[in-house]
Amino acid sequence: MTKYVYDFTEGDKDQKDLLGGKGANLAEMTKLGLPVPPGFTITTEACREYLSIGTEPGDLRVQVTMALRHLEDKTGRRLGDRHDPLLVSVRSGAKFSMPGMMETVLNIGLNDASVKGMAEESGDERFAWDSYRRLLQMFGKTVLDIPGEVFADALDKAKATRGLANDLELGVEDLKELVTEFKGFIVEHSGVDFPQHPREQLDMAIRAVFNSWNTDRARLYRRRERISQDLGTAVNICTMVFGNLGETSGTGVAFTRDPASGKTGAYGDYLPNAQGEDVVAGIRNTLSLDDLKNLDPDSHRQLLRVMRRLETHYRDLCDIEFTIERGKLWMLQTRVGKRTPAAAFRIAAQLVDENLITMDEALARVTGAQLALLMFPQFDRSAERVLLTKGMAASPGAAVGRAVFDSPTAQEWAARGEQVVLVRRETNPDDLGGMIAANGILTQRGGKTSHAAVVARGMGKTCVCGAEQLDIDVVAKRLTLGSTTISEGDEISIDGTTGEVFAGAMPVVPSPVATYIENGLESALADADAETADLVKAVDRVLSHADAVRRLAVRANADTHEDAARARSLGAQGIGLCRTEHMFLGDRRSLIERVILAHSGDERDAALEALLPLQREDFRELLRAMDGLPVTIRLLDPPLHEFLPDRTELAVKVAVAEATGQTGDAVEADRKLLHAVERMHESNPMLGLRGVRLGLVVPGLFGLQVRAIAEAACDLVLDGHDPRVEIMVPLVGSVRELHIIRDEAEAILAEVTQARGVVLGASAPRGQHSLSVPIGTMVELPRAALTAHRIADEADFFSFGTNDLTQTTWGFSRDDVEAELFVKYLEKGVFTISPFETIDADGVGRLVEIAVKEGRATKPGIKLGVCGEHGGDPESIHFFHNAGLDYVSCSPFRVPVARLEAGRASVI
Ligand code: ADP
Ligand code: MG
Ligand code: MG
Repeated sequence: MTKYVYDFTEGDKDQKDLLGGKGANLAEMTKLGLPVPPGFTITTEACREYLSIGTEPGDLRVQVTMALRHLEDKTGRRLGDRHDPLLVSVRSGAKFSMPGMMETVLNIGLNDASVKGMAEESGDERFAWDSYRRLLQMFGKTVLDIPGEVFADALDKAKATRGLANDLELGVEDLKELVTEFKGFIVEHSGVDFPQHPREQLDMAIRAVFNSWNTDRARLYRRRERISQDLGTAVNICTMVFGNLGETSGTGVAFTRDPASGKTGAYGDYLPNAQGEDVVAGIRNTLSLDDLKNLDPDSHRQLLRVMRRLETHYRDLCDIEFTIERGKLWMLQTRVGKRTPAAAFRIAAQLVDENLITMDEALARVTGAQLALLMFPQFDRSAERVLLTKGMAASPGAAVGRAVFDSPTAQEWAARGEQVVLVRRETNPDDLGGMIAANGILTQRGGKTSHAAVVARGMGKTCVCGAEQLDIDVVAKRLTLGSTTISEGDEISIDGTTGEVFAGAMPVVPSPVATYIENGLESALADADAETADLVKAVDRVLSHADAVRRLAVRANADTHEDAARARSLGAQGIGLCRTEHMFLGDRRSLIERVILAHSGDERDAALEALLPLQREDFRELLRAMDGLPVTIRLLDPPLHEFLPDRTELAVKVAVAEATGQTGDAVEADRKLLHAVERMHESNPMLGLRGVRLGLVVPGLFGLQVRAIAEAACDLVLDGHDPRVEIMVPLVGSVRELHIIRDEAEAILAEVTQARGVVLGASAPRGQHSLSVPIGTMVELPRAALTAHRIADEADFFSFGTNDLTQTTWGFSRDDVEAELFVKYLEKGVFTISPFETIDADGVGRLVEIAVKEGRATKPGIKLGVCGEHGGDPESIHFFHNAGLDYVSCSPFRVPVARLEAGRASVI
């Protein structure tokens, strides 16, 4: 019999796959002896079975009965008993936390009879009816799928007609009326009565949690977060404890450190006389932990002790949910808390200083994605500003955009390229699409733990929440503050680091972390405030550690000396890919046209001759910028017709000339050009005449480039510089192709060096100038990977061109599939992420592994790197580390991210 149900006393924190994050951590806290209300967890496996067969596995019902009876025995109460009922919550909890995604139902077990029993037993009739009202509301909404507003509106109306400001003022009779009304809604909307039988309530709620795994919004969230759609959720059944039992009760959320800034010290929100989500829903203003200290010093002390215990145990920032029931503290949830990128770095460094974790662990706790976010620009502090108001700094960054007031508009405008800021009173899961589309999110209500804040932080999106002075009218689509009005489409700027909201578009400046990375610690600390300084120092420590422990070198892809210099300042240890095609564009286009159109060898040579000095100068500057570091120059790769004019345009031009009877040299030249364009037209250029193939059929083309490289390098050597150029041949599929090009290149290198008195090869006699120029190949065709053992004979290095390798392995033409097909493929789960973004380890990655192994078998010292875009992708970097490559090369801006991730790859 499969075990589908685990008591909280059975599991532990490492069983997230089976028990979900919430269940695993509830079990862990139980094990630690913390005050967790007893309960049990139904496994994710049960959910998967349920979803695949469409009904609960038979054993599950039986096991739930056993666990429930056990719970009843332990608590001395019976579920839904008419005198002293046991009530439970039914809570979802998947492996990865999905804030606001899955549904929870509280107060299961209440019915027309037990509500009276509970009133008597607690001596608080209002409390009992309030709990029943909540059950009907949550059950109706989440189990029976009745729109939440049906209940919320009725509640608002009940308050309004009685002239009451908040829920707490509703009396027993009011609540009884609401209960009757809510039961009516349930029949009306779902066609069935609210189930009075407690076990039926329980079973229905469990099923609803299972089903909630597959709601659109849950699927969307998982797609975005790259969480597999097949995991399923666990269900936690937990004895109810009550924060709504009067003023000595309440509920709260807390963090052991500030998850926004990373400052030390506990931080939290508490709401007296409240239950469940009240505290995060923004319905009433919350109290701070200090307020709680005044209110209930005992519980406060206990709470702090528990938090310290959790931090010591998890050795990390934890967030918790707790409830105080008549002065008794209960722990309802904990997990290692989400945090902003700045907090991640600061906390990692703090924990090292507190001797709770090692530097390696600190490195494992931050990510390249977080570092990338920290490098984003911020608002210019010195710029003129129209400060509208200040809300809570919920998720850092500087967002500028046009104000939009609903999620569909945000998505629509963003889709047509507008920058938008989503402005809402508060957000709920239905706003997710708009939150993704927006640059930033601004809300009027809710604290740092509100839906908007939590989700925005998770996405790394700028968010200011709880800007209470704003009056947001989503129907009229405008916000007002005093005499200022911002309507839909007006520009607005929000600072998620400070909570400030500005009218208009504020100018942005570089981030201190970016300044540090580019210009060093000193210049970043020059006029930094204490918090900024702390952050910059934390980043420096972690990034330096990454540099110290990583095996992968990090190079950059750069085509110009400007890019190269920037890459170098960001820490690039060389250029892994210099594309040479741009060097044939602009003014030089006519020269390359002449090479292509040449009728005779002499004509072609003359054109090539003219290109030589230009190319030489390009390479000189590039090599100078990277003096002492390797620079891999790729010989011309794209199909030649890319350097010729557009076929249709030219055809029209020629046709017009003919129709109007124009003649002359210009017309003749156009005609010749058109002829050439047509001759060179390929129906599938990606697989046509390009790369090494060009070098083999256009005499002198690669030779020109090699000569320019050799001359530039020799000049520099003679000037006392240290050029480390490497020549890379693209699109090789056969060792023979490489052999031919290599022969030609070696001859030119020998000739040029000899002519200038430079010794070719690494070992020059003392006092003599020497130059060594490795010649290698891209591995970007499956055939190259599969014959790597032979190609290695002729190659000093391999550089995996994983973009083309992905195209050729999958048979995808990237430009043709990415927009439409991939959306479908992602939806259908063919892959969870585009293989152009993260390397397809099973297929493309396998080819890389084969080539690494066989290349090294032939030539043990062969240098191996990657220059596809994957070189800057964190997950792919880990793959390349494990595959044993020597370096990754990525766009300059990604270099710091790659350095960090390469370091992480060697400690994780
Ligand atoms: P989420 O995953 O959205 O955090 P939870 O399952 O944690 O959902 O529950 C929603 C709210 O209900 C939380 O505030 C939680 O603390 C509260 N809650 C859950 N179970 C209980 C319980 N047994 N007693 C009291 N409050 C509970
Ligand atoms: Mg929770
Ligand atoms: Mg390529």
